[in-house]
Amino acid sequence: MAFEDILRGAGLTDTDLRGGTLPVRTPIDGSSLGEVHEILHEQVPARVELAEKAFRAWRTVPAPRRGELVRLLGEELRAHKEALGKLVSLEAGKILQEGLGEVQEMIDICDFATGLSRQLYGLTIASERPGHRMMETWHPLGPTAVISAFNFPVAVWAWNAALALVCGNPVLWKPSEKTPLTAMATAKLLDRAIARFGDAPEGLHQLLVGGVAVGDALASHPKVALVSATGSTRMGRAVAPKVAARFGRSLLELGGNNAMIVAPSADLELASRAIVFSAVGTCGQRCTSLRRLFVHDSVRDALLPKLVAAFASVRVGSPLEGGTLVGPLIDHAAMERMHAALDRARAEGGTVHGGERVLESDAPRAAYVRPAIVEMPRQTDVVREETFAPILYVLGYRDLEAAIALQNDVPQGLSSSIFSNDVRETELFLSSAGSDCGIANVNIGPSGAEIGGAFGGEKETGGGRESGSDAWRAYMRRATNTVNYSRDLPLAQGIRFDV
Ligand code: NAD
Repeated sequence: MAFEDILRGAGLTDTDLRGGTLPVRTPIDGSSLGEVHEILHEQVPARVELAEKAFRAWRTVPAPRRGELVRLLGEELRAHKEALGKLVSLEAGKILQEGLGEVQEMIDICDFATGLSRQLYGLTIASERPGHRMMETWHPLGPTAVISAFNFPVAVWAWNAALALVCGNPVLWKPSEKTPLTAMATAKLLDRAIARFGDAPEGLHQLLVGGVAVGDALASHPKVALVSATGSTRMGRAVAPKVAARFGRSLLELGGNNAMIVAPSADLELASRAIVFSAVGTCGQRCTSLRRLFVHDSVRDALLPKLVAAFASVRVGSPLEGGTLVGPLIDHAAMERMHAALDRARAEGGTVHGGERVLESDAPRAAYVRPAIVEMPRQTDVVREETFAPILYVLGYRDLEAAIALQNDVPQGLSSSIFSNDVRETELFLSSAGSDCGIANVNIGPSGAEIGGAFGGEKETGGGRESGSDAWRAYMRRATNTVNYSRDLPLAQGIRFDV
């Protein structure tokens, strides 16, 4: 399919695509998709002021009515799923199935948030004083900045925006500078929903296409109540102190270094399918991609050759072609980082299978690679880092507790899994002495979370939780209320203060 048709199909016009300062390229063949308009960081304060004004109106709209806007957004996404999914493939390079899956995830969170708009529950608490009642109420927090990464160019926004809007907060979205087009197409869909909704305040949602300086201005602005930032740990290290310095709230979704343990009782057929999808899907560019595999020595010979063969034969190519399972890396810099990591792994004693550049003559400006499996003698420095590429480090183990300790012995704490049919092993893995990650799975891989659960991870992954469960609380402020319906004024803790 012609790239131009995909751009037009997603509603992008010449005005959107021409005359700007930010060049956009498709990772499919490295060709230009346009030059889009950016905002300058000096313009951010005016945008925040507008969001603040919108906040004062939006916070008084009943939450179920706010949910109606998100329901309409879900309708727009349903109607444009195919068009937006193709644009995700074109701009981010993930295969069409995954592009469509990403839009489905947006639809799912809209459904979730619509229901949530009638369930922003607080507690009623027993008071120690007679004739008193205590309760918690949850109020809108304020303008919410969403800073998103290239690899989930629209789903991450939806996880945040759907909840933020329902919770009563306007949204300022700074997408990755590598994927502004999907953001622009998505913002247009929300604009349509807002037009159908009728009376949303101006500035309820603002798209701020721009670079790091725009993200920085949002992080530093005292009126941005919540900064939800998804990206590298390096980015989190820059953003978090800026938000903390002004006592703002941040929700950080940073890098992962996800692992799987394959135990002696594992269903190896199931495990190998999960390993291949988790490690090579999205060309290893998911925050939850499988990067470290701990295989029990007794099953290593049965599993490893199968994996090496699967990695060697998996179809790499244009993500828009049916049958392709692995698309390109986002750019040449990502490929250089992958090859540098493989060189380091060799120097640290690893045996590398695959990893070479492919399709160079067909697409010289793109970065297609064969996914790599690397047998490591131990968990060396390079294994403990997140390299955002399809590299799977394989290590053997004998003792499960030692394997769990190794799994946890990395700075990141996002996702993890165990394949085992032994309930003692799986329960240990899920226990407080088991995986230290925000996501711990049994008999499925570490990647591909559903929106119903809270998503996020510990340690250098940043500690944030978004999407399902009670993640909405991050977007609201809690007030504790005590109501006295008696004719006396008893003090807490029995204190006497007779005036
Ligand atoms: P990145 O850190 O380069 O950029 C992410 C976003 O942060 C971009 O919008 C960028 O402009 C902005 N940014 C970068 N530095 C900034 C600064 N100093 N101040 C303000 N904004 C700044 O990440 P990327 O390459 O786009 O994405 C890949 C990374 O994202 C990986 O590390 C991956 O694990 C992580 N990621 C994490 C999750 C998660 O939920 N934990 C999800 C997706 C991606």
